[in-house]
Amino acid sequence: MSDAQVGWGICAFCNEVVDHADTWVGLNPAQLGHQECALRSVLGGIGHHLAHDYWCTEHGDPDAGLTYRQSAKLVKLLVELLGVDEVSARAVAT
Ligand SMILES: [Zn+2]
Ligand SMILES: [Zn+2]
Repeated sequence: MSDAQVGWGICAFCNEVVDHADTWVGLNPAQLGHQECALRSVLGGIGHHLAHDYWCTEHGDPDAGLTYRQSAKLVKLLVELLGVDEVSARAVAT
């Protein structure tokens, strides 16, 4: 893999393409992911944060019917709004 390919690939979390416009994180040389997807993988999906009982318990879908990445982007917004400490404190890990 050449340096020119760094930043391009498939997100290890959501399986969507990572391109130059995206903020991404390297997991290892062969794996990369969107920054927001990495965040969501740690914090849980948006449904989990907004209505855990409804989405996680009743529907088994912590991403609230959205794709993994859509949910991840909303979790990132929530973190920007509330701060990561507040979001973490509100969430019970799933
Ligand atoms: Zn992703
Ligand atoms: Zn939950």
